[in-house]
Amino acid sequence: MSNHWEKKLYENFEIKASLKSLDGEFDLNFLAHSNDGKYVMKVMRIGCHADLINMQCAAIRLLEGKNLCTPEIIPTNSGADFASINDEKGNLRLVWVIKAKSGICYSGVEPRSEDFINDLGSKIGEIDNALKQFDHPYLDRDFKWNLMKSDWISDHLDLISDNKRKDIIISIIEEYQSILHEARKLPHFAIHNDLNDYNILVTSDDHDGVLVSGIIDFGDMVRSPHVCELAIACAYIVLDQANPIKIIANLVAAYHKKNQLKEKDLDLLFIFLKMRLAVSVINSTMMAKENPDDPYITISQGPAWRFLEQEFDPNIVLAKLRIACGFEVVKNSKRILAYLNKNCGNFSNIFNCDLVHAPMVDLSVFGTVIPENPFNLTLNEATKIGADINVDYWLGFWGEPRLIYTSHEFRTGKYNNSNRRSIHLGIDIFTNSGHKISAPLHGIVRTVENRKSHLDYGGIVILEHSNNHGDKFYSLYGHLNPSVVDELLVGQTIEKGEVFCELGSSNNNGGWAPHLHLQLSLSLDCMDSNWPGVADPDEMNFWGKICPNPASLLNLPDNKTHYKKIDEKVISEKRKNNFGSNLKLSYENPLMFGRGWKHYLFDQMGRTYLDAYNNVPHVGHCHPRIQKIAAKQLQQLNTNTRYLHPKLTEFSNLILDTMPNELNVCYFVNSGSEANELALRLARTATNGTDIITPDHGYHGNTNAAVEVSAYKFNKPNGIGRKPWVHLVELADDFRGQFRRSDPNRANKYANLIDDALDEIKLRDGKLAGFISETFPSVGGQIIPPDGYLIEVYKKIKNAGGICIADEVQTGLGRLGSFFYGFEQQNVLPDIVVLGKPIGNGHPIGVVVTTKKIAKKFDNGIEFFSTFGGSTLSCAIGAEVLKIIHDEKLQNNAFLRGKRLLNGLKKLQKEHCLIGDVRGFGLFVGVEMIVDNKLSPATRIAAYIVNRMKEKRILIGVEGPSDNILKIRPPLTINDDDIDCILISLEECLNEVKMFTS
Ligand code: PMP
Repeated sequence: MSNHWEKKLYENFEIKASLKSLDGEFDLNFLAHSNDGKYVMKVMRIGCHADLINMQCAAIRLLEGKNLCTPEIIPTNSGADFASINDEKGNLRLVWVIKAKSGICYSGVEPRSEDFINDLGSKIGEIDNALKQFDHPYLDRDFKWNLMKSDWISDHLDLISDNKRKDIIISIIEEYQSILHEARKLPHFAIHNDLNDYNILVTSDDHDGVLVSGIIDFGDMVRSPHVCELAIACAYIVLDQANPIKIIANLVAAYHKKNQLKEKDLDLLFIFLKMRLAVSVINSTMMAKENPDDPYITISQGPAWRFLEQEFDPNIVLAKLRIACGFEVVKNSKRILAYLNKNCGNFSNIFNCDLVHAPMVDLSVFGTVIPENPFNLTLNEATKIGADINVDYWLGFWGEPRLIYTSHEFRTGKYNNSNRRSIHLGIDIFTNSGHKISAPLHGIVRTVENRKSHLDYGGIVILEHSNNHGDKFYSLYGHLNPSVVDELLVGQTIEKGEVFCELGSSNNNGGWAPHLHLQLSLSLDCMDSNWPGVADPDEMNFWGKICPNPASLLNLPDNKTHYKKIDEKVISEKRKNNFGSNLKLSYENPLMFGRGWKHYLFDQMGRTYLDAYNNVPHVGHCHPRIQKIAAKQLQQLNTNTRYLHPKLTEFSNLILDTMPNELNVCYFVNSGSEANELALRLARTATNGTDIITPDHGYHGNTNAAVEVSAYKFNKPNGIGRKPWVHLVELADDFRGQFRRSDPNRANKYANLIDDALDEIKLRDGKLAGFISETFPSVGGQIIPPDGYLIEVYKKIKNAGGICIADEVQTGLGRLGSFFYGFEQQNVLPDIVVLGKPIGNGHPIGVVVTTKKIAKKFDNGIEFFSTFGGSTLSCAIGAEVLKIIHDEKLQNNAFLRGKRLLNGLKKLQKEHCLIGDVRGFGLFVGVEMIVDNKLSPATRIAAYIVNRMKEKRILIGVEGPSDNILKIRPPLTINDDDIDCILISLEECLNEVKMFTS
């Protein structure tokens, strides 16, 4: 068949191309590949009216040149828009050709980023705006996809066998019918009418984000209200999305900027959206009946059903759409706020006292250390909030991000880093229990209840009020003495100033320190019976407007009680001013954290991030035992190594216990760099040599001597370059280096490269001091050298009179799971071991461990002293870290979780050819990303993944000479759930990339 059409394409359009069939409901569509580009040949259905093409061509011409990604029409040889051509069976068909657009259908493309949605919404808005001038008689034809005439589906309900689903469709039809009358009154214009996921094409510029590249197929154009266009576009873009309403709101906002919507449009949008999906599922059920052998038809209904089966609060949806378009969140909310503002100062005092001078107390993420464990507020903590504040009244902020709401119901997802409600929607007034509470203004009791659950409200009252226009608004009083339930009746009037309840105590108010939670709401429609008292920070744009600051009810100015977040842009600017610009921040949009706990970090809004990157908090961020020991030591004494102190010897004993017997002398310094600096001095003093051999791409610190032996720094453009006394050997990378895993002798072959380095030293008349390497090179790409590598290297170095230094800053202290140190895995005995980072769990400690012999040579009469190295505080902390590793069996945890992680990654590797290699021990893991089987590094993709993981609230890093190795090395506290969360999220990222690479 395509031969026939290939011939006709050439005869009529002078395009020589091979054809490939495309999907189409009625017409034959071909993708035509020619030497000068790609085209789409559209062979219309038999009997197709020429007006169907005329209408489309006229509309497309109108939109041409507006940068709206609409198609370009290729005229026939005679300059017409289409040709009449016989098909192989002799039927006359109308045929036209358009230039093919680049890109792929957005169906299945993730993520639906805000940039993409904005781009799409504004393009649709511009198209609709331009089409206002368009008219064509064919727009008024009768056909099934006209959303204004969709109740034909009610004749086919019997096709749906599932009763629940049938009920869903019935109620959608009922809603639809109830709005049709209003919808018919709206102005009607030409619209595209089929902006589904196959008619919108997207491209990705090197995974920097998805943008619209094509809006195609104008064949369903119709005359309809604009809201129908938008409802159809929304209906498809939300399918299988985690946050569909947010996506709709973003699309609507972008559309509205280009083609203004009216409040009425928004009232109808969600109903039209659901009706479009109802038409879609009924239509495909009908098709399935006709094609019973095509299971795909039914499967393709899945996403639409999944959406329709979800329950959305239509009032919340509408309010969010209204906000998106800049309308009042609910009708007359401005009038209510103006009323409250105007009467501020004249309301009756709730506590019979003036609160103007009551202090505000900061309970925010940055402002408090309560709760110690941000996943579990204890009973004791809840009752003691503010116990140290000695005033009669103090206030808690509205809009404040807090970590005190820890139970599962505050979390919206399965994992600990899921969204969590943290922003306080009321004002707290802390005072003694039993205080009488009176109404700030006239009201009617709407709710009076005792919410008995732990950390709930206890007694609660909601009053309804109205302003002089009769607009209703509501105030909530929580944590009351539950006796209020016996004293008030729903519907009862409360006069301004009338005492109607009293403050509860910790025994009956949900378990909190006594305080009143006062909250305002401008609508009951958006609130379920259980008013949310805190909101997800990502939803504050909505909740903050529905439940605005109730300060005026307390006769207080808004800004006294309004939490002011730290402006991250200001911090960022100050940083830029105050520091050298090579003090780098991670991520293009950097993160600011206020709290840490185990392997989690919390930003100022209380969003939880899973920390799978930072290896310094080895036993977990903010470990309570470290907090305690550090506080105690700071209270007792913090001095230096020139005095006797048992902590100093305790710490050294604990370290030496982890070492082979031969390594039995410690030096304490302040950092890994300083430790390496000292290690180099020890080696040089012991040998009288200067020359150092070290693997390429190594890193040993930021001091002069450390940089000199760190190819990762000195070999960078503008680096100090290689000093003559430093000799590089190739990194023993058996995935990418010259000797690969298929070579059983690769360990020896890499080790033999030491011989060349030794020759180089001879050649320059140098003298070998030693060899320094990270036992498993980290910045070099999380490399695991082949078994036996270091044995051979150390032999050669020792034979040549050199000292072997093992930099265990990254690998030491149990991270590797099966081994406490990397050198154990390599089966070698170093002369010097260097420890840093994890040994202080965040406190700056570096340790050098060596032999008696080397230490003796170093003791040449000159004192070794590091002012802060080995301070009492450092030793107390270092000793505690080692004890915690032991007590909490963290090495074993690294082994078990590491195994789960590596297994999961290896499974992903089988499905994703982008993963070239998965390597690691325990929780020291690298995932090497490649583009092809020549191992070309997937640098941009790795950067994309790290950034997307951050958006999914997981921190990982990227390493290696080409920055293509994902680095995963969480604190050793990580658990199975969080390992799974990493794996699932990584898989999602890989799937996103796959859409554009396969
Ligand atoms: N050695 C290695 C292997 C390291 O990774 C680092 C730090 N990344 C250092 C030494 C230097 O440690 P510090 O930054 O504590 O000076």
